[in-house]
Amino acid sequence: MFLLRDYKDILKKIKNKKPLIHHITNYVTATDCANTVLALGASAVMADDPLEVEEVVIHSDALVLNMGTLNQQKIEAFILAGRKANDLGIPIILDPVGVGGTKLRSEALKRILKEIKVSVIRGNMSEIKHIYGIEEMTRGVDSISDSKDGGKEISKAIAQRHKCVVAITGEIDYISDGNQTFSIRNGHKMLTNITGTGCMTTSLIGVCCGATKDIFMATALAISIMGIAGERAYEDLQDKSGIGSFKVHLLDAIGGFTIELLEERGRIDGLSY
Ligand code: ATP
Ligand code: MG
Ligand code: MG
Repeated sequence: MFLLRDYKDILKKIKNKKPLIHHITNYVTATDCANTVLALGASAVMADDPLEVEEVVIHSDALVLNMGTLNQQKIEAFILAGRKANDLGIPIILDPVGVGGTKLRSEALKRILKEIKVSVIRGNMSEIKHIYGIEEMTRGVDSISDSKDGGKEISKAIAQRHKCVVAITGEIDYISDGNQTFSIRNGHKMLTNITGTGCMTTSLIGVCCGATKDIFMATALAISIMGIAGERAYEDLQDKSGIGSFKVHLLDAIGGFTIELLEERGRIDGLSY
């Protein structure tokens, strides 16, 4: 049974441990990801040169591999850091940004999943569907299909295939470890109007996984934090179309997340309160 107190425990561990999250990530959203990690009281380091990633990951509690603005050097860095993290038992969270959109990204994804063991894959529906092998062209990086479309089955199947936790985000989020699946109905459409909320969600997963061995609950908690923060940020917004202010409110709301808010607002299917 999954309980609210498991979430409470993870939040306490984040506070005490202040996990360090090594990111090999894109240049579009790196600052937002770093601030997201800081908002939860953890630390972030962005380092992507193949000559230093192995040294950096040794001191980290989780490794985030984000495929945005991909290049060949970054792929080498993923593999080197990933192998080292595997040797040390450090959890790896993979964000397959835009996979299916180009050959480079699809080949990189195949190589990553073959050569390193990831703990979590978090993507939108079109990215995850590509991994599932459904013929579909990803149009750039935005999700072209709805996560209501078979999200539960697809997340479960990929989790089983790759022996990891899979999270599909969208209007409804699905989190599966191949055995249990949660669906979460928090969030706000405004989260899709600014770039980076997916990357930020992946970084939140990094923070939660950096604090506990319970990767499934850590992933589900991180997704609830983003969903509830998105709702509160929109409520706090005076100009309801102001994407700049929305981002500021979003970071504030991530930092202001509490277990009481989760209890009040959490719309999690699968959790016992
Ligand atoms: P990015 O543009 O940063 O790459 P992404 O496509 O990888 O984003 P999304 O699936 O957009 O990631 O998820 C980002 C956040 O927005 C998640 O918290 C998700 O739950 C939320 N979200 C996405 N779509 C909706 C929606 N239609 N309604 C409510 N919340 C949503
Ligand atoms: Mg999106
Ligand atoms: Mg994304």
